[in-house]
Amino acid sequence: MEKVVIVGSGCAGLTAAIYAARANLSPLVLEGGQPGGQLSTTTLVENFPGFPDGIDGPQLILNMHRQAEKFGARFSYAEAEDLDLTQAHIRLKADDEWIDTQTLIIASGAAARWLGLENEEKLIGHGLTSCATCDGAFYRDVPVCVIGGGDSAAEEALFLTRFASKVYLIHRRSALRASRIMADRVLACETIEPIWNTVVTKYITDERGEMSAVMLRNVETKEEKQLEVACVFVAIGHDPNTKPFAGKLETDPEGYLLVRHLAESKHPGIFIAGDVADRIYKQAITAAGSGCAAAIEAERYLSGLHQPEAP
Ligand code: NAP
Repeated sequence: MEKVVIVGSGCAGLTAAIYAARANLSPLVLEGGQPGGQLSTTTLVENFPGFPDGIDGPQLILNMHRQAEKFGARFSYAEAEDLDLTQAHIRLKADDEWIDTQTLIIASGAAARWLGLENEEKLIGHGLTSCATCDGAFYRDVPVCVIGGGDSAAEEALFLTRFASKVYLIHRRSALRASRIMADRVLACETIEPIWNTVVTKYITDERGEMSAVMLRNVETKEEKQLEVACVFVAIGHDPNTKPFAGKLETDPEGYLLVRHLAESKHPGIFIAGDVADRIYKQAITAAGSGCAAAIEAERYLSGLHQPEAP
């Protein structure tokens, strides 16, 4: 029987692991399909307190991983698949095996959203991606486009200017949703050309099946035009990773896990942290904060100190 199992190894999961490990609970962290979470595919993080010159996302994650390991956290690449709440304790299925645990911290994060266009799945890795840090360097001296108007799109577009000859930023409205500082940087950058009020309606491939262009539609004029690009970077937000818990734990209408008070779920012994429950802030520091709260609540639950909040 495990004391604490943590699903997810992003900022929330690793912070929970640091706190649980320092409390001598020897947590088992299931890293799953995207170890390190979203920070592992980002670039410079400028708003995590304590790093006045910024820190690379993957380095920040690596530091947290080492810190958790140093205090006794254990890591597995297993991926959570199912949850059984019919027993006196919690049972979690991961990579076909059931794990028995007294407490569970769900910090499974969120996954990139896609447009839902024809052939989308097949094109991932062939000129279609959601990760500029992973794939940007493959597209040197060629035009590329980023879809979206939030901070992720702004960050991806700025990063891609290191490689691409031109970065088109395709946004469905005429104003960016990104924070002021990021929006100003994007709009001041000569290599980035915003294409406003426009959506991508089709991916166009060459004879090798690689992305060669996109079909655009102006949502106001309805005018259609083709834009030659070697790669499309989709940055239109994320959806919470809740598949293993479907039907077992409460979600809001958008699919985010419901948290009653800080990191506490309705089910005794289950605590929730990070983007899987955060529809609003989605910041590394808020994920870390809720990871800390989840681990403290788990520790209190295990020691019998936990007083569930009134519903
Ligand atoms: P986001 O803020 O939700 O922005 C998503 C963007 O994609 C929006 O501009 C949205 O358009 C557009 N969009 C959504 N669905 C679309 C569709 N089907 N077709 C076309 N466009 C679509 O997501 P995000 O940029 O990933 O950011 C998520 C959170 O992480 C935010 O809180 C952000 O501040 C944070 N973040 C922070 C940093 C940083 O601080 N450096 C970096 C990355 C992310 P509309 O504007 O019209 O809704």
